[in-house]
Amino acid sequence: MGIEDSALVGIDIGGTKIAAVLVDEAGAICARGAVAAPASSGGDAMVDAAAGLVTRLAVGASVRAVGVGAAGVVDHRTGEIRAASELFHDWAGYPLGDRLSARLEAPVRVENDVNAFLLGELAWGAAQGADVLGVMLGTGVGGAVALDGVLRHGPHGAAGEIGHTPGYSDIRCTCGQVGHLETVASGTSIARRYAQRTGSSADAAQVAEYARAGDPDAAAVFDDAGRALTLACATVSGIVEVGTAVIGGGVARSWDLLEPAIARTLRTDAPISGVPLRIVPGSLGGDAVALGAASAARSHLQTPVL
Ligand SMILES: [Zn+2]
Repeated sequence: MGIEDSALVGIDIGGTKIAAVLVDEAGAICARGAVAAPASSGGDAMVDAAAGLVTRLAVGASVRAVGVGAAGVVDHRTGEIRAASELFHDWAGYPLGDRLSARLEAPVRVENDVNAFLLGELAWGAAQGADVLGVMLGTGVGGAVALDGVLRHGPHGAAGEIGHTPGYSDIRCTCGQVGHLETVASGTSIARRYAQRTGSSADAAQVAEYARAGDPDAAAVFDDAGRALTLACATVSGIVEVGTAVIGGGVARSWDLLEPAIARTLRTDAPISGVPLRIVPGSLGGDAVALGAASAARSHLQTPVL
């Protein structure tokens, strides 16, 4: 497929990598690329890297609108980063949307990366229906929620943040509180819990391989993650009746290990008898955040004020 005359751009800005896609109106990817993220060099360096990547991808096409899915807490109205992890230098308070818009001479819409993931799966992926929960199981656990087909931000941008809700363990979370979903279902926690059980250090992908090879401790750690994830999804569904929860992030690649616990827990702890809840893996893989950012850019052109 050739590059459209006027393309939408989606950018996924993380702590180690910046990825971008050019898409047409139907979400078909015309070009994609990635560069290392200079997160320790500050916001201007990040914008330089992202703008350079987009300029290379967009040769021969005019950029109609740009969306960004960015790590950290984002003010989607202003495009400013409100808070970020210590991986990022000069990122909290950085006017990402304005700076990128000036560089690319196109409107820029900035969303939190998990919100972008859900927008991507809603527009072009596995999320069916208008009421959907998105959960990303990565280094941490992020969440996002769409109701009546509209992504909900909440007054502080924290709507859907299921990862930091309590009751799943007695382990201290990265945020300082105790027992959050993230302490059981993130990739980091899967590795840590396996190490606690066995004394062996392995990352989540290795733990998954051990589980597939018959290691009962590795299987138990994934089982716990799947059960906790399902309880969290069922809780949300019991409150706002989401019909689908779509799961992404690195841990979701081990769907075969999560699925038995998900199915079992949906039988024993369904939200309300008779109300269906589907928990499914995302279908856009590593492109979900960038595609969702492009979808956000497209929506913003149509309805600039939310
Ligand atoms: Zn927490």
